[in-house]
Amino acid sequence: MFCPKCGSMLKIKREKNKKYFSCSCGYTKRDIGDVQLKEEMKQENKAVDVVDGQDEPLPLTDAECPKCGHGRAYYWLVQTRAGDEADTKFFRCEQCKHTWREND
Ligand SMILES: [Zn+2]
Ligand SMILES: [Zn+2]
Repeated sequence: MFCPKCGSMLKIKREKNKKYFSCSCGYTKRDIGDVQLKEEMKQENKAVDVVDGQDEPLPLTDAECPKCGHGRAYYWLVQTRAGDEADTKFFRCEQCKHTWREND
């Protein structure tokens, strides 16, 4: 790992629980701790991400399945990242389990 500013080799330093790269020119890169954090979060997500395939009790509504034409579907709302957009409604056909978005 080399310094992007001056090109010399970075040293690993410790500060409390965090490790970070430091250069004699004053440049510091604090990515070491962040990388560890991200990997821990990834593992947590893996453990939680078993929702699909589970029979969660979703509410039923009148919606026509675009695949089989069945008139009842489970629905749930997903919040979009863009703050000005409304929630996106998802449907899953009661009969064939086909899943689609309301605005498609
Ligand atoms: Zn440097
Ligand atoms: Zn269907």
